[in-house]
Order: sequence, then structure tokens, then C-alpha cells
Amino acid sequence: MEKTCPCGETMRIQLRTIVYQDQVELEDVPVYTCGSCGRNELYSEVKTSLTGLLEKLEMDNKQKQPKVKISFSEHNELALLISKASDPEHWNEPVQALLENRINELLDLLLVAQSLNDDAWSAELRDKLSQIADYSRSALT
Ligand SMILES: [Zn+2]
Repeated sequence: MEKTCPCGETMRIQLRTIVYQDQVELEDVPVYTCGSCGRNELYSEVKTSLTGLLEKLEMDNKQKQPKVKISFSEHNELALLISKASDPEHWNEPVQALLENRINELLDLLLVAQSLNDDAWSAELRDKLSQIADYSRSALT
């Protein structure tokens, strides 16, 4: 997960906290950072998910509430994957194994959600599974 910065150096992914419109503090957002010139770039795979989440928060937050703090990795599987992969506890595990464990975990939860007839939860879990599927496809091509 690296790319080349316009300055020629290597950009690496880091999880950053982003403050949005002074209202939302969003933690664990994957951002490419260049150690040489300091350029930051949002990891493009999470752009759609991030925009959707911010729109939803804006709707929830119409009546000027105090600042909310949210972890992006609770809403985005890629951010979760990156935070797991950068956790020393998981350094020895290949990303593919982390992905497979997460898929199994989500499938187990989906079974629970379905047996409880919890449609909202099932939909949320399916959405997370499709985020992983999208990523796996793009990583293979
Ligand atoms: Zn640079």
C-alpha cells in the first residue's frame, strides 16, 4: 500500500484524524502521506464510503450539536483492515488472512442478525461484506 508522490518520494498509508466542518472528528481515516514534502492524499478506495458517512452525519447533526467523535474503521472495512494490519498484534499475519478472518466474522454475525430478523443489522453487515468484496476485486486486478 504505497504510491509515488509527485515529488518523487514514496507515500505511505497512515491513519489520520480528520476534522470535518468543525463538527465531526473522524478517526482512523486512511491517508497517503509523503514523509519528504508532507503532501496528504485521501486513500481513493475509501472516498465514496467517507463521503456517504459525512453526508449522513451532517443530516443527523442539523441542530448544531456538540462535536462528535467517530471512528471511521467502525464504518469502513478497509480502514479497519489497515488499522489491524498496522497493529503490532497482527504484524505477522498476511493481509489476506486478516481479510478472510474478517469475512468469516461478518458471515457469523450475519447468521445471528438473520436469526433475530434484524433487517437493519443484516443490511449493515451485507454492506460491509460488499466493501471487502470490492477491495478484493480491485486488489486482484
Ligand atoms: Zn512528496
